[in-house]
Amino acid sequence: MCRELGVRMKRSLIIILGLAVAGCAGGIEGSEDEGHDHEPPSEDIVYGENAVTDLTPHSATGYKSGTAFSIQVVTVDGKQVQVGTAHQFLRMRAEAARAGVSIIVVSGFRTNAKQAELYRAYLNGTGNLAARPGYSNHQSGHALDLNASASGVLSWLNNNGARWGFKRTVPSENWHWEYWGADPGPPGGSAPGMTPAPGGGGACNSATLARMVNDGTCVQSASDKAWYHCDSGSWVAGKTGCTASYGWCSSATLGRDVAPRTCVQARSDRIWYQCTSAGWESPVSSGAGKLGTCSSMYEL
Ligand SMILES: [Zn+2]
Repeated sequence: MCRELGVRMKRSLIIILGLAVAGCAGGIEGSEDEGHDHEPPSEDIVYGENAVTDLTPHSATGYKSGTAFSIQVVTVDGKQVQVGTAHQFLRMRAEAARAGVSIIVVSGFRTNAKQAELYRAYLNGTGNLAARPGYSNHQSGHALDLNASASGVLSWLNNNGARWGFKRTVPSENWHWEYWGADPGPPGGSAPGMTPAPGGGGACNSATLARMVNDGTCVQSASDKAWYHCDSGSWVAGKTGCTASYGWCSSATLGRDVAPRTCVQARSDRIWYQCTSAGWESPVSSGAGKLGTCSSMYEL
């Protein structure tokens, strides 16, 4: 810990004060993770309904203060997240979604191999500051990197995160939030794939539709053509309990199916149509139809 002090001293007066109290012999709970990683590039962020959430737990090897332990992880937004942290995050996210704010997990639980890779990149000078393998709170299961740069996310977290037990622990990393509380159980009490309880849950951000949709909405993804449904604020694979349904439309003009929100000028009448929940609908004007801005436009 002491050999890292020089690095830390440059980073934050708050951290220096913390170390001054703890001294080099001791440790601060959760403090081993001060400098660890930069926010992944936006390409790494899988938005929308392809970012599957599956609350079936799996065993993995976590690390805390360099010691391995067995940890249960689930999948949120396509990322592994410790089960209790995931449950609380999903509850918090559902509330944010009702306020129109879409929070996404960019990085969750990390294996020791992944942390070692980040640490090597840091030592090589090809990566940002990273905690030593075994010492990151991404390995203890408590840390999440969130899409803090997305519209409204950081201010919502600053105003509401603490109420949900999520705290920013690294002053220089506004995307890094940690949860050290108890596992509140899965949100809504429903298993993945089940129809969400009426009136419960939240909303999901659909990349295909480019907007938030309510629980129970089913969307056939623009990227993999698979169906997903919004369940308690998270996308779950499958077409279950649909209160609204947005599927691909068959285009005679193009001779193939296209995703919802796509606009096509029909060969038969030269009129523009958009693929909507009700199938092909017009009018389309100024590049937008009933579902908003056309995701693609196919002009004759
Ligand atoms: Zn982090």
